[in-house]
Amino acid sequence: VPLERIRNFSIVAHIDHGKSTLADRILEVVGAISISKDNKQILDKLQVERERGITVKAQTASFIYDYQGQDMLLNLIDTPGHVDFSAEVSKSLASCQGVILVVDAKQGVQAQTVSNYNLAVANDLAVVPVLNKIDLPEVDLDSCLNQLESLFDIDPNSVILASAKSGIGIEEILDAVVDRILPPLTHGQGDSLKFLLQDSWYDQYKGAVGLIQVFDGVLKLGDEITSVKTKKTYNVKSLGILTPEEVSVPAIHPGQIGFFTCNMKTTKEAIVGDTFHRINRPVEPILHVSTPNPMVYSGFYPTESSYYSNLKTAIDKISLNDSSVSIDPETSPALGSGWRIGFLGLLHMEVFSQRLQQEFDAEVILTQPSVPYKIIPKPHLVKKFGQEIWVKTPKDWVDKDVAETYLEPIVKGTIIVPEEYMQQVASLCSSCRGIAEDTTFVDQTRVRMVYTLPLSDIVTNFFDDLKRITSGYGSFDYEDAGYIHSQLIKVDILLNGKPVPELSFLSNPSKARPTGKIKVAKLKELLPRQLYDVAIQATRGKTILARETIKAARKDVTAKCYGGDLTRKQKLLKNQAEGKKRLRAIGNIQVSKETFIKVLTNK
Ligand code: GDP
Ligand code: MG
Repeated sequence: VPLERIRNFSIVAHIDHGKSTLADRILEVVGAISISKDNKQILDKLQVERERGITVKAQTASFIYDYQGQDMLLNLIDTPGHVDFSAEVSKSLASCQGVILVVDAKQGVQAQTVSNYNLAVANDLAVVPVLNKIDLPEVDLDSCLNQLESLFDIDPNSVILASAKSGIGIEEILDAVVDRILPPLTHGQGDSLKFLLQDSWYDQYKGAVGLIQVFDGVLKLGDEITSVKTKKTYNVKSLGILTPEEVSVPAIHPGQIGFFTCNMKTTKEAIVGDTFHRINRPVEPILHVSTPNPMVYSGFYPTESSYYSNLKTAIDKISLNDSSVSIDPETSPALGSGWRIGFLGLLHMEVFSQRLQQEFDAEVILTQPSVPYKIIPKPHLVKKFGQEIWVKTPKDWVDKDVAETYLEPIVKGTIIVPEEYMQQVASLCSSCRGIAEDTTFVDQTRVRMVYTLPLSDIVTNFFDDLKRITSGYGSFDYEDAGYIHSQLIKVDILLNGKPVPELSFLSNPSKARPTGKIKVAKLKELLPRQLYDVAIQATRGKTILARETIKAARKDVTAKCYGGDLTRKQKLLKNQAEGKKRLRAIGNIQVSKETFIKVLTNK
């Protein structure tokens, strides 16, 4: 197929607006698949995606569409819509010249619609706007068209009305893809070759498989290719396209998307976002992939220490397929050996732990998430500590004698809510130290509120709180907004005067006391009474921020034996001794692992 007849596009939408259903319907209309119960949402391969109805890894499908009697080759690149997966999103968008922006006609424009639109425009992509679900009763099309016009300047006449479910408007969408989206550009001359690695996975039979888009030249079987990143050279062993079934081909032409295998030993060599070229014919990389910094960290521990190696295998396997997680070993006196894992965001973290459970049957304990702070050391200490000290856990903390300034991550959050909830949302945001940036009406009844918020306040309960106070009507999305100077202190939790390192936390001074109070109260509720008084304190240096006492209780297990029966008494004492084994010492207190988990996970 000549280049002018190729279109590379992607579908983007707020969650549940019908992206996957539309992809299925398109493939069905062009005859690439027949929809039955089993292959519904064929592009969402991972189980977690099917269950949550979200797309995590970008998938793709190529098919021929008959446009006014002419065969067009359309490549549909499925992107994960959420900003948490923005690394995946930008890799997919690098291969596209346009997007179909799907908006649920009943829900209207939502927070993620805004980020999707902005991302598409930032990447110079054509946008084909689609109002989906017009089959539903009570949809207000005018109001939706209004929103698209007022927020994005989209001409109402260019919006396609569709129902992915009932198959309305599908051909109109495909025609618009051909009409409004440009064919891919290539600049190749002679036998130059340049292609982008979009994704990679491990196949039991084929080994490492790479999903690629050819930018310049023709990639053929047997070609010798070199990676820009690793400089390693390989021999192309097999080539194919995804229709979405895998079909072998002898060559992949410019603008086309397909997969290849070569003599790569592991998927570790297949770095997503890497550019390849013909051996001895170096090229500029297509994408400058920087590994994104994790924004949310959590401790992952096996529920039993004997599950450690199973969990390790599972974590290794998933991270092979997900280059954006960062993994460091960590040990905790109470939970044993585990890992501190960094994620791009909360959804990313949730999806990762769900995959552990669903694909590998691995049970895990997740500790409460935290965000990475940065500390700039005093000028004379830069030599010793470097320009910046990354503080991923309270263990990395350094005090005022070292620190010149503290920096904390912030995000730009977009919230879309019905007008009547504006006040509640404003107070939630200000209780999270948010700063209002902008408020605009998106139509007669709904507003878009933009806030700058500290990420640390988002990772705790923000989503849940927002849903609760808006009766489920509020939608929220956020993007990175860098770091700002901030006040930061370390709060320790002490049991009978002894600090428990795992319970320490970093906090803005304004939140230290309330958070300390909550933690201390929770410990009081969860810790068993001891034979002596137990003081629970939250402290900052020598200052006590919160305090509770658990009164002593004599726990006499033999009390109910009325003295007499000696064997019964001995049995009870033995039971109690075994019970102790399951306990671990914190300070001078024995705390069961279950209690510890409750405190650490904040469940
Ligand atoms: P995604 O999260 O954007 O991929 O959304 P899905 O394709 O998973 O769709 C979310 C829900 O909306 C599913 O229950 C679909 O069956 C439903 N849905 C999708 N398109 C339509 C439509 O055109 N009409 C109706 N009534 N429901 C739809
Ligand atoms: Mg989906």
